[in-house]
Amino acid sequence: MFNRSDFISDSDWNRFIDFSKDLETPNIVINLHQIKQNYIKLRDSFPYAQIYYAVKANPGDPVITLLRDLGSNFDIASRYELDKVLSLDIHPDRLSYGNTIKKARDIKYFYDKGVRMFATDSKEDLKNIAENAPKSRVYVRMLLDTTETADWPLSRKFGCHPDMAYDLLVMARDLGLTPYGISFHPGSQQRDIGAWNDAIAKARYLYSSLEEEEGIRLTMINMGGGFPAHYINPTNELETYASEITRYLQDDFGEESPLIVLEPGRSLVGDCGILTSEVVMVSRKNNTALQRWVYQDAGKFNGLIETLDESIKYPIITSKDEPGVKEGEVILAGPTCDSADIMYEDFKYKLPINLKAGDKLFWLTTGAYTSTYASVAFNGFPPLKTYYM
Ligand SMILES: *Cc1c(COP(=O)(O)O)cnc(C)c1O
Repeated sequence: MFNRSDFISDSDWNRFIDFSKDLETPNIVINLHQIKQNYIKLRDSFPYAQIYYAVKANPGDPVITLLRDLGSNFDIASRYELDKVLSLDIHPDRLSYGNTIKKARDIKYFYDKGVRMFATDSKEDLKNIAENAPKSRVYVRMLLDTTETADWPLSRKFGCHPDMAYDLLVMARDLGLTPYGISFHPGSQQRDIGAWNDAIAKARYLYSSLEEEEGIRLTMINMGGGFPAHYINPTNELETYASEITRYLQDDFGEESPLIVLEPGRSLVGDCGILTSEVVMVSRKNNTALQRWVYQDAGKFNGLIETLDESIKYPIITSKDEPGVKEGEVILAGPTCDSADIMYEDFKYKLPINLKAGDKLFWLTTGAYTSTYASVAFNGFPPLKTYYM
């Protein structure tokens, strides 16, 4: 159904097959070399930006240390992520507490460990920051209504209306904090580059009105993640994102561009993982059913949670793929006794007719939001094992 070479080079594929052939399934293999290339490409496409890797996308130690050595900063969402990156010798200057939903005592925990940059989107949280992290830099997350074109939206739950963002930045100053900037996230796997245009225009407006009316000069705009990995639905290439977004910034800010921060997750690591599963059973629900059910040992509870609502559609290669092989429609399901554990039913994948138990499925582009989205022991199935290549 898919042309493997649209997603992965022959040499990377051969190296992967060689590396993974004896590994128990299900598993994920992460190609660190490719993460490095993706990082360099992003850095070179946005030479004026600071990069804060969103750790949640793939918190594997080898991933974090690689990005550490390449000079990345890190966007941290919990004290557990914080402990991890600190234990990997990353200085707290390189960290931002980007989660707007946090306990007062966790703010203190971050502050005590040396973190001085905090995201917020509410009065309640801002007061907690002022109390527990005095004088820190705060940036306010704006709510965007442009997330319909994102495959995995991050709207509604985070951010506040720009009018409220304004009030919060004034309040931050009045509470003795440093009003540092504005952030937004256009939605993960955002396929409409125009989403950044709207957000940058809003940020520009906030930026100038705060300066004119309150004498507050912000330093930074954090433009989120949202940059794409390669799934089934096509996107523009990163270069196009970079040239368009750079143009929006120039149109709105001219020579006076603030410090730009990016918080990529998916676009750095998504393309760098391959999840291998094994077919457990192929069956039909009645004698004349046209569709086969393919049950295999990876599912919603061990790595494939982003198939919720069939949001993310991974390219799938099978060990039976060969030129001219006959294919038919399937419903793809996981191994657990939960009927929600179905990955794709509306969207019809076509897999080889001769697929049978023991064959392998290779889920490409599974480097982001997979391994640590696995549940611990639902139905006794262990979380996915990750290997680094
Ligand atoms: C998850 C997240 C990101 C990463 O987004 P991607 O679309 O995966 O690049 C960045 N910033 C924040 C605040 C996030 O929550």
